[in-house]
Amino acid sequence: MPALYIHIPFCTGKCPYCDFFSRSPRTNEITAYIEALCLDIDYHLAGFLNGAALKSVFFGGGTPSLLSAAQIDTILSHIYRCAALADDIEISLEGNPCSCNDSTRLRDYRRAGVNRLSLGVQSFNDADLLFLGRRHNAATAMTATELALNNFDNVNIDLMFALPTQNNASVEHSCQLLHQLQPQHLSVYGLSIEANTPFATMLQQKEIAAVDEELFHHQFLHYHKVLTALGYEHYEISNYARPGYRCRHNLTYWQRRPYLGIGAGAHSFIADGWGQRLAAPDSIEQYIEAVTTGGTVRALLETFDHAQAMAEFAYLGLRCCDGIDERQFQHLFGCSFSAHFSHAISRCGHHLHRDNSRWHMDSASWLLYDHLISAFL
Ligand code: SF4
Repeated sequence: MPALYIHIPFCTGKCPYCDFFSRSPRTNEITAYIEALCLDIDYHLAGFLNGAALKSVFFGGGTPSLLSAAQIDTILSHIYRCAALADDIEISLEGNPCSCNDSTRLRDYRRAGVNRLSLGVQSFNDADLLFLGRRHNAATAMTATELALNNFDNVNIDLMFALPTQNNASVEHSCQLLHQLQPQHLSVYGLSIEANTPFATMLQQKEIAAVDEELFHHQFLHYHKVLTALGYEHYEISNYARPGYRCRHNLTYWQRRPYLGIGAGAHSFIADGWGQRLAAPDSIEQYIEAVTTGGTVRALLETFDHAQAMAEFAYLGLRCCDGIDERQFQHLFGCSFSAHFSHAISRCGHHLHRDNSRWHMDSASWLLYDHLISAFL
């Protein structure tokens, strides 16, 4: 079943490590943008679904919680008009602790149809949050998480590690809080310094240090140890879930299934041939203009051939603990995974395991994922 991603490209300020497409909204821009989103949904969603039921909707950003519950409700009502919904549809909204620290607001999101809240906490430590340039502090992060857990049955929190402000004791402190809070889902990311961000400039000017690899490995494995002991499944390199709470929307990406991206800069994947990736303009003005004037909203970015499709399927599948099922691979691509990737498999050596008909990596091998996966590409 297909998925729908809605990009909300607005934030109250820009965090210095962030390379996502977002900026501060200009006067009346949010209203105009929502009108364009709704038109885009009206024009394109039914055609994309072609009668299939929608499995998930994900409001990502940016900061979707800058939108009021009434605005989210408006967008959802256009989706409901154009699409059949799976009975167990997952509707996620990404929120920032500063705009999710009010119970009424959260309850109104839930009433609008949101059933999963994903909070960009990043850290429960003031020094880390200051370093990351976040606009919330540890107390706000804690309040927002508690309110989220009181108002939703399915809550994700994003956390970052390998920050220069973090030592092992502060990671341990986060783990103790997680023990107490027990959200249904956790996305735990190591800091990565991306090109064209203020952090990249600061690194170049030696104002901040490069990410310490040893610290990264230690903290990655520490989270793995603590969270799996708490009963979480480490089901994707950066994601942990209680049984039954894996993020269905993100599984669509990792399983290389179709999704439609609505909004400025949003990507889509359609299953024509061996797959095509499309992208909407990463400019709010150009996106609004394309939608409202009936122009081309999504341009072709990439058309996959057979070999590229197999490589991408391996690249995505081996990020997940379920890995690659040989029979499914044979069914999808008409050839054998182990024969087609024999060189890559032997280069991975003991880091790639075969259990019954599944090929997968364990958590320790995921630390070498970028290096190992290059053999498949
Ligand atoms: S709040 Fe999130 S999307 Fe916005 S600038 Fe910060 S990291 Fe980027």
